[in-house]
Amino acid sequence: MADRVTIVGAGLAGCEAAHRLARAGVQVDLIDMKPGRRSPAHRLPGPAELVCSNSLRSDNPGNAIGLLHEELRRLGSVVLAAADATRVPAGDALAVDRERFSDEVAGRLAALPGIHRVEAEIEALPPGPGLAVVATGPLTADALAAELLGFAGARLHFYDAIAPIVAGDSIDPAVAYARSRYGKGSGDDYLNLPLDEPQYQAFVAALVAAEKVVPHAFEDERFFEGCLPIEVMAARGPEVLAHGPMKPVGLEHPVTGARPHAVVQLRREDLAGTAWNLVGFQTRLTWPEQRRVFRQFLPGLARAEFVRLGQVHRNTFVEAPRVLSADLSLRAQPHLFLAGQLTGVEGYVESAACGHLAARAVLDRLAGREFRPPPPATALGALHRHLTGAARAPGAEYQPSNVVFALFPPLPARVRGGKEARRQAQVERARRELPPWLD
Ligand SMILES: Cc1cc2nc3c(=O)[nH]c(=O)nc-3n(C[C@H](O)[C@H](O)[C@H](O)COP(=O)(O)OP(=O)(O)OC[C@H]3O[C@@H](n4cnc5c(N)ncnc54)[C@H](O)[C@@H]3O)c2cc1C
Repeated sequence: MADRVTIVGAGLAGCEAAHRLARAGVQVDLIDMKPGRRSPAHRLPGPAELVCSNSLRSDNPGNAIGLLHEELRRLGSVVLAAADATRVPAGDALAVDRERFSDEVAGRLAALPGIHRVEAEIEALPPGPGLAVVATGPLTADALAAELLGFAGARLHFYDAIAPIVAGDSIDPAVAYARSRYGKGSGDDYLNLPLDEPQYQAFVAALVAAEKVVPHAFEDERFFEGCLPIEVMAARGPEVLAHGPMKPVGLEHPVTGARPHAVVQLRREDLAGTAWNLVGFQTRLTWPEQRRVFRQFLPGLARAEFVRLGQVHRNTFVEAPRVLSADLSLRAQPHLFLAGQLTGVEGYVESAACGHLAARAVLDRLAGREFRPPPPATALGALHRHLTGAARAPGAEYQPSNVVFALFPPLPARVRGGKEARRQAQVERARRELPPWLD
């Protein structure tokens, strides 16, 4: 009889794990509370929903995230295959039409025998002895989050934020100009709203003064440094935004050649350009304040219609190095594997990669083999080093992390030629180390 595994959560990690297991002939019960019940950030009825940005970030293998894309493609990842099939132009970023992406993942899962989709909210951890993968994400529903909090040392953090989206036909075409940074991509992948210095300063002052959503007393208001709300950045210094998400470098006006003091970049949400994401504008301003400040202080958005407004959310994750074994199973309940953002990886692609690793660990367990972790110098291995604590500085607190070169082991010898040459050497080392593990 074929092995049977339960997966709770049909997000990026759960779908990737289900796909890998089903390809190996395992029967999978893939359980999700959607569409009947949705977290505050989930809107689509289908699986593998991208809740905020529609970008899977840089596709350039010279970056750690681009290298992770490359490795996942080699592993036959369903998330990468669906992203490639539903890609929208975004310079060297891999951005997708999020509805088509979700449909594409659903279609690819349905095409495999052995995946049974079940709609249910799971309130308690599956008891065993059957193996289960829990991949319920940063917004794990309350009852299950409480159980994880109690027994697996999960933390509830309140620091992830979502950026607003505006309707394309409500952006003033006399103000916005099409251009990707440094002219990458097809030229019209992004729209840009230029601000001169007085406009920028007025916007920063309005952001700092605007009303924000106040966290509940039990919520620990710490933010992920890679996803800071704009008003938090604005409060750190008057020019912080102009050197961050509003950086004008490489975005000179295509007609005048002038470089504005600051720029709001808008990334296409769909091929037709009906909706545009304010890049890096995640915020916890109250909704009326978002409408007021963005319409009043951002040129080109005076009549903006918001398809979605920014929000903040808790992020639930366990202290993986303490509560998980190297194969991502819970030390206290080894029949349960965790995957995705719940483990403390950060990001869509990292979550999918973690789902893939958990599925491989399940396959090893089913076959009675010892889990073979990915080679440490690969992008997958770097993520695994993060999860086991191997990449952490002694005494440092465990915090969620994207895949970054800092998680890779140091190069054995000094590489001359600066940062670029070191990166290239790291990429080449990863490309050498991956194939034997795949076999
Ligand atoms: C507000 C917010 C914004 C984010 N923005 C970005 C971004 O722009 N870019 C980026 O790379 N990453 C972003 N992330 C981080 C993260 O990469 C994503 O949340 C990613 O979707 C995590 O993948 P996952 O598979 O772990 O969880 P998810 O994709 O969230 O999937 C979890 C699934 O589990 C289901 N579920 C939850 N609880 C239960 C239950 N008890 N029973 C049954 N089903 C349940 C949910 O319905 C969901 O479908 C953001 C996170 C948050 C919270």
